[in-house]
Formats: sequence, structure tokens, C-alpha cells
Amino acid sequence: PVNRTPEMQAERLQLPILSEEQVIMEAVAEHPIVIVCGETGSGKTTQVPQFLYEAGYGSDSVIGVTEPRRVAAMAMSQRVAKEMSLAHACPCRVVSYQIRYEGNVTNETRIKFMTDGVLLKEIQKDFLLLKYKVVIIDEAHERSVYTDILIGLLSRVVALRAKRRRPLKLLIMSATLRVEDFTQNQRLFARPPPVIKVESRQFPVTVHFNKRTPEDYSGECFRKVCKIHRMLPAGEAPAGPPGHSRYRARPPLCTQSRGFPPAGLRGARQERALGLQAQSRALPHINLDSYSVLPAGEADEDREAEADGDEEAALGSDLDLDLGDGDSDGGAGGGVGRAQPAAPVSSGPLLPCASVFRPPPEGTRLCVVATNVAETSLTIPGIKYVVDSGKVKKRHYDRVTGVSSFRVTWVSQASADQRAGRAGRTEPGHCYRLYSSAVFGDFEQFPAPEITRKPVEDLILQMKALNIEKVVNFPFPTPPSVEALVAAEELLIALGALQAPPKTERLKQLQRSRLSCPITALGRTMAAFPVAPRCAKMLALGRQHGCLPYAIAVVAAMTVRELFEELDRPAASEEELTALRGRRARVAQMKRTWAGRGASLKLGDVMVLLGAVGACEYAGCSREFCEANGLRFKAMLEVRRLRGQLTTTVNAVCPEAGLFVDPKMDPPTESQVTYLRQIVTAGLGDHLARRVQSEELLDDKWRNAYKTPLLDDPVFIHPSSVLFRELPEFVVYQEIVETTKMYMKGVSAVDEQ
Ligand code: ADP
Ligand code: MG
Repeated sequence: PVNRTPEMQAERLQLPILSEEQVIMEAVAEHPIVIVCGETGSGKTTQVPQFLYEAGYGSDSVIGVTEPRRVAAMAMSQRVAKEMSLAHACPCRVVSYQIRYEGNVTNETRIKFMTDGVLLKEIQKDFLLLKYKVVIIDEAHERSVYTDILIGLLSRVVALRAKRRRPLKLLIMSATLRVEDFTQNQRLFARPPPVIKVESRQFPVTVHFNKRTPEDYSGECFRKVCKIHRMLPAGEAPAGPPGHSRYRARPPLCTQSRGFPPAGLRGARQERALGLQAQSRALPHINLDSYSVLPAGEADEDREAEADGDEEAALGSDLDLDLGDGDSDGGAGGGVGRAQPAAPVSSGPLLPCASVFRPPPEGTRLCVVATNVAETSLTIPGIKYVVDSGKVKKRHYDRVTGVSSFRVTWVSQASADQRAGRAGRTEPGHCYRLYSSAVFGDFEQFPAPEITRKPVEDLILQMKALNIEKVVNFPFPTPPSVEALVAAEELLIALGALQAPPKTERLKQLQRSRLSCPITALGRTMAAFPVAPRCAKMLALGRQHGCLPYAIAVVAAMTVRELFEELDRPAASEEELTALRGRRARVAQMKRTWAGRGASLKLGDVMVLLGAVGACEYAGCSREFCEANGLRFKAMLEVRRLRGQLTTTVNAVCPEAGLFVDPKMDPPTESQVTYLRQIVTAGLGDHLARRVQSEELLDDKWRNAYKTPLLDDPVFIHPSSVLFRELPEFVVYQEIVETTKMYMKGVSAVDEQ
């Protein structure tokens, strides 16, 4: 029995999905698998779990709901708790959430929102998912890697549960994007599941194409929003230029200088580690065959895709766009007074600011600047004007080499239509497309599923940990390419996570695309760490010589990515350019301090990460410290959480380590630095590059360049690296990013053996 407030009940009744309750519940009763499709805002996420709860699917059991994003898992659990009037009586006990780092699940939880990564981890512990009677895979149209895998796995779990006479119901919910990948895929569902379409009230949206397609889409976007604000009647205007760094609020210029720890507190040990004493002894060695291995059956942490963080780093972390300034662009005339910029819609693990759900104050206009996050998963009420740049900023990976680059590309037609649809939820609206109709005609119809765009080594390791040996036979909604699968297996074999078959056997496997290497004990341990396989290998090796706390800090920093603020952006004015230059010099200075000299400098950018994490924690991980040192505050908070989580996981793997997160961690000793270099090299071993010798310099484009096994083209040390001027003979790198050239980031020197 649910006692909703009358206001809440009235609000619910407005939702299109309410009239489909019976249809949906009948389908669920009759079929093991049901697909529910409906426009964003039709009420799928908030209402369907409640329908199921009221129909008794939550009795002695849990209704599981997965979301591709943490922010959605948290926000939706709160919203549903509130709708069910549970928030006051027993906050979040019946409706809970679980994301990578935190959750409020109890024994009384009946509806559990979680990220798809969390459910994937649960399947590893209990393949039949016996604690659930229903699992809802929400936002399936986003086609996130984990969502795709879950759908594949659950198609089998449902069959197994039916055999055991403990049926599991699977609901797949999606915006109205292509569902044929699910329904027309015989391998996935031998019998196509029923699709229930929820008709939403959609008011007409007039779409206006630009005559021409401007280069400067963010400037154009800004001008358009200002124009709407000046000329058009009330109604909010969301705007969505990706990478709108030009509007970002600038942090104040830093003036203070701080070391790691502050120079005065540095002990002799630290001086040594920072390379102030010459290195004379023979190099100590790490034993590459000595790693921690998980005792059987004990993987105990949630894993989760790098999720929101990465995307956010790409988009610039601050979304505040002060449209108040727009008035200067042609004077404040007409319109509805000041436009009110809303708080960021996605703030990492934080919730969207509640103010975006509330009507803006009298005499103001709400302007939402949104990334693709808001395209489908969050509904902000009352939007009347949509300005669509037509662009999306995504990390693009080369399938074989893994080289990544951020690319701003055109969205798909389906996405553009989603964006436009936002304008017609409450009344007829307008969508201004900043591109011509001819350009629109050339857009792809649908976005490509993530699994076809990303390296899959992480995923393959997870699947192998689930004892899925023949990955090629897995019922993927859309399978990754065979090259990507082979590349992933090769890497995992090299890391020791999979058993290498004899050479001839392997050749046969490759010829017939019958990849089937079983997982090793090391592989199982690596799968328990919620980080990429290369990093997991570093953790597995880290126990030796007291290196674990450092390995954890390094891996946490590598996983969060881009700890440093982007300072290479173009400046709008002379003044800003000077300020930017000042900041760049300051950050470069800090990096040199953190890297130290001698042995520690050889550890290169990894030493910088260690220094940044150490110094930041020493200063209490404050916003001020981050701003003063060019660090992204949100990234550093994320590093802190991940360090905590990795420490817990490592303790589960080897309890005798007895680790804890030390905010006043000493810098590593000189010999530890050397061990760390070996650990890093073991993890990044396939990312080796050799400096091109002067006698090989055929072409000027190879000056200061490096050669890697996979690429024909030269690669370079990124200018932001502390090894940029050092040019060691051999290096390992964390990743290659292509901008104007191919650049290696996260570089460490390797000694010639
Ligand atoms: P769907 O999953 O179909 O996109 P939702 O169930 O997420 O739809 O949303 C249904 C409605 O609930 C939307 O109109 C949205 O405005 C409203 N809503 C969702 N979350 C909140 C919230 N935190 N506060 C106020 N309204 C909300
Ligand atoms: Mg939804």
C-alpha cells in the first residue's frame, strides 16, 4: 500500500505512462521479457518501478533498476521515494540506490536504483540474481557498454531462472530510438519480446534550420540564445554547445605556491626521494611473478565505467554560463528581464541542482546549458525553445591502436530529433538548429553503440571472470568488431590475465575467430579491481616493498584522468591570454617540483600524479588548493573516493596488507620510486616507445619523435609532460591522444636492460 500525497497523485496522473499501467503489467505477467518505449519525460523511470511494487513484485524481493549514469541512479531513487511519500516516514529505506562509491541499501530495500556496472558486479557473485524478481534495464537506447552486456547476460539468466521455476522478469526501457537491435536479434532473443509504446503528449515543435552552417557554433549558439531572450516571449531556452569553454567561469589567478609537502616539512627521506641525492646503488628489482591473488570467490567491490567523469573532463567541468552578460550584446531590450543561468545539470556524482526542476523566479528566464546528458535521461520541465548546435563531443578510439582523440562531430538525426522534442513537452515550441537542412540530411541516422567505439579489454576481462570463455559467441545486442576482440585478448594475455594457448593453437583460433582463452588467477584478481586491466596489473604487483599505497594513488589518479585544468584553450582577449600564460607557467613549475629530479624524475608524469595527490590530500583536498595549483577540484575529489575504494578492495584481496588511506602519506623512498617504475612498466608494457635515433632521422617530422610498435607515424611526448624536454630513450605512456600530432600522455622513462 502506498500513501501518496494528493498533489503527488495529481502530478503522476499527468504522465502519459499512467494510462498504460494495465497494459504494461499484463505484458509483464504474460512474458518474461518486455520492452517499454516512450519519449523522455513520459514517466518510465519514475513510474514503472512503482507499478511493479504495487503489483507485489517487491514482496520478499527486490526490484532492480539500472541506469547508465550515477547521477540518474541517485536522482531517480530520491524522486521515487518522494513520490511514494516514503521520504519522511523512513527515508530511503524502501527505495535505495547503489553506485560505485556509495549507497543506502538496507534489508528493507524493495526498489533499488543502481548503475549498470553495479549489477554487472552482482552477476559475478550470483549469476542467477536470485534476490531480484524483476530487473529493469533503463535507458537502453543509450547503448552503454555495460547496458549492452547486461542485456546479453540477462537474456540467459531469464532462461535459467525459468528452468529453476523461479522466474525473473526483465524489462528493457528505452526512449524511442532504434529498438530493432533488441527485437530483431535472434541470437539475443529467440522470440522477439513485446514492445509497448507509450504515447507521450508532444506539442508541435517548429524546427528552424540555419541557412548557413557557421564554423563558430558556440559563438552562434550564444548569439541565438541572446536573441531569443531579447525577442521572444516567455519559455526557457536550453542551449547545448559541447566544449563551450569560452563561457566558463574562470578561476582566479593563483598566487600561492605550495610543495609536496610544503618544503619546510620535507624530511631527509623525502629529499632523497625527490632525487636530491645522487643514485649510486644497483637498481632494485620488482619480482614480476609475485603478485597478490584473490582467494577463491572473494571479489567484493562494485565496478563502474569511468562514467560521468571522463565525459565531464572533456566537456569542461564548469557549465555555468552567465547569460546576464548577453545584455551587452545589443542592449537589454524586450524579452523577460534577466536570463537566469541554471546550475550544472551533471555535476559528477552530485545531484542536479534542484532549482532546474522549479519554475524560475518571476521576471526571469531559465536558460539551461546542457550537454548530451540531458538529451534523454533528465527531464527539465517547461522548456519552450531549444537551440541545437548539432554537435557532440566524444572521445573517439582507434580500434586497433587504442589511440584516442576528442572529436566534436555532428550528432545523429535521432539525437537531433530528441533534442528538438524537448521544446514541446508543455506547449508548442521552437527548435533552432544552427546548421542547414542539407547538413542535417547528411547526419547518420542513429548514434553508434558505445561497444563498437571503445577498446573492450576491460569488458572481456569481466566476461572471462564470469567464465564466458568464447566471447565471440556471446549474444551481444551489437557485437564489437573481431579486431577489437583480438586486440583485447592479446593485451590480456600479455598482462597475464588470460592463459596463453600454445602458438599453433592460437593461430588456429585467430584464423577461425574462435577466441577462447581461459582466465588466470591473476586475471580474477585483476577483475576484482574496478579499474582498467593495465592499472589492475599495477595494483596486483604493488604489494612488494610497501609500494601498494603509492600504486593505489597512481592508479586512482590515472583512472580519473585529467587532474589538471585545461590551460591550452584559446583566449578571448589579451588580458585573458596573459592570465592563461601565468597559470600555465605556474602549473609547469608545480609539476617540476612534484616530479623532483634524478630517480623520481624518471618516473615522470606518474611521479607528478603522485605528488599532486599527495600534496592535495596534505592540504585537505580543498577547492582553494586545487585552484591555486591548476588541479580540477572535482577530479581530485574523485581520486580521493577511488583511493578509498581501491584500498578497501586491496584489503579484501590481501588482508595482511592492512592498508588505510593516509592523508599524510610520505613520498616514496628512492628505492620505492624505482620499484614503482617497474610496476608502471609492467602495467603499461605494451605502451612502449623508443626515441628515434639521429641517424634514423630521414625527415624533419621525426625530430624529437618516438616510434611505437603499432603506429607507422611518429608520436611525441606531450608538452604538458615533465619529460617533454628530457626525451629519454625509452618511455612507457598511459595513452596516445591525437590532436595536432599524436601525443603520448602520462609518460615514464624506462631503463635499457
Ligand atoms: P522518463 O523516464 O520516461 O524519461 P521520468 O520518469 O524520468 O520520465 O520523468 C517523469 C516526470 O517526472 C518528468 O516530467 C519530470 O519532469 C518529472 N521529474 C523527474 N524527476 C524529478 C525531480 N527530481 N523533481 C521534479 N520532477 C521530476
Ligand atoms: Mg528515464
